[in-house]
Amino acid sequence: MPLLVMKFGGTSVADLARIRNAAQKVKSEVERGYDVIVIVSAMSGKTNELVGWVNETSPMYDAREYDAVVSSGENVTAGLMALTLQEMDVPARSWQGWQVPIQTTSQHGAARFQDIPRANLDAKFAEGFRVAVIAGFQGVSAEGRITTLGRGGSDTTAVAFAAAFDAERCDIYTDVDGIYTTDPRITSKARKLDKISFEEMLELASLGAKVLQTRSVELAMRYKVRLRVLSSFDDTDELSGTLVCDEDEIMESKVVSGVAYSREEAKLTLVTVEDRPGIAAAIFGPLSEAGVNVDMIVQNISEQNYKGREKPVTDMTFSCPVEQVARARKALETARDAGTISYDALEIDEDAAKVSVVGIGMRSHAGVAARMFRALADEGVNIKVIATSEIKISVLIDRKYMELAVQALHDAFELDKAG
Ligand code: ASP
Ligand code: MG
Repeated sequence: MPLLVMKFGGTSVADLARIRNAAQKVKSEVERGYDVIVIVSAMSGKTNELVGWVNETSPMYDAREYDAVVSSGENVTAGLMALTLQEMDVPARSWQGWQVPIQTTSQHGAARFQDIPRANLDAKFAEGFRVAVIAGFQGVSAEGRITTLGRGGSDTTAVAFAAAFDAERCDIYTDVDGIYTTDPRITSKARKLDKISFEEMLELASLGAKVLQTRSVELAMRYKVRLRVLSSFDDTDELSGTLVCDEDEIMESKVVSGVAYSREEAKLTLVTVEDRPGIAAAIFGPLSEAGVNVDMIVQNISEQNYKGREKPVTDMTFSCPVEQVARARKALETARDAGTISYDALEIDEDAAKVSVVGIGMRSHAGVAARMFRALADEGVNIKVIATSEIKISVLIDRKYMELAVQALHDAFELDKAG
């Protein structure tokens, strides 16, 4: 029988009525002839509450016990979903990660999939069960301990099952009705996309469009799992939601498909570091060890600082999330004290935001950057740092202009118009 994976996020299983609503959608697919693997999140707010309890009990907690506690929210919704389906005369059974077993690495709190053997579930489907309900976000390590995948991990569970069981599609039910050209809270002109390519979705997901966990999109791209993002609050039909798929499935796309942003960015500049082989490694090695997610990097020879010095010098600028500034500063100061790097000053600007335009059409169209910079200039927005990739152009700007910049770019690339 053809198989579908249906994933329900926290708001879609927030209480018993919502679970019944979700179960009804599963039942409809069963009636259409599908076997279904349902992946559930914890009820909305539950995981935050569990994380809070762990932190309050033990600030330097043992990550194995963190996972034991934090994985429990999904166990509750998986059992309740199976019971609800049984009440609707749909033969269903729930599974916790270790029962499948979903084998993962033993990095507690950030585990990765190793294998999802099919035998146990296949046997259950062969017995006549039509639905397997899986607790998302969790697995089991080789040591036999419960693991979790990192926040938002149920999306990745869903894609991993879709790949392992050759599902026809992986439907991600959430509280928004699809992927938009930008955040509808920033401009009412934001438009829902019918389709978006994996690559574009990956850029949008990692740039701060929070609908899908980034890892789930990476996995979907690798195994070509077609994802549909849709709302569990709507009555669905074949065409609702947004399909995230291979670019071959998208006939003609616009040059730019979406505008993404990330609000809490910081810009750090190391003034006058030595310009010699190994300096970038000496700076970014310690930052990476300290867990700082460095994003944009610019290295620039400064004439001014070069003059009158024996050795060449350069300025090094990079961006990272504001919440990591303290860690970054400490890592750099430690490296300086240890003598592996030297600099005259560390300048920190914590009032930045990043705005990006994304689109696979950029590969074959020139002039996207010029159009973007013109639109920002017309609004008087100053650009601090620029970075580009094959399908993305990002700028770092003052945070206070972020909304304005997103609106201006949305207009400049006519994203409110279809096709
Ligand atoms: N319940 C987990 C979280 O809130 C996993 C998920 O919902 O995807 O992060
Ligand atoms: Mg989510």
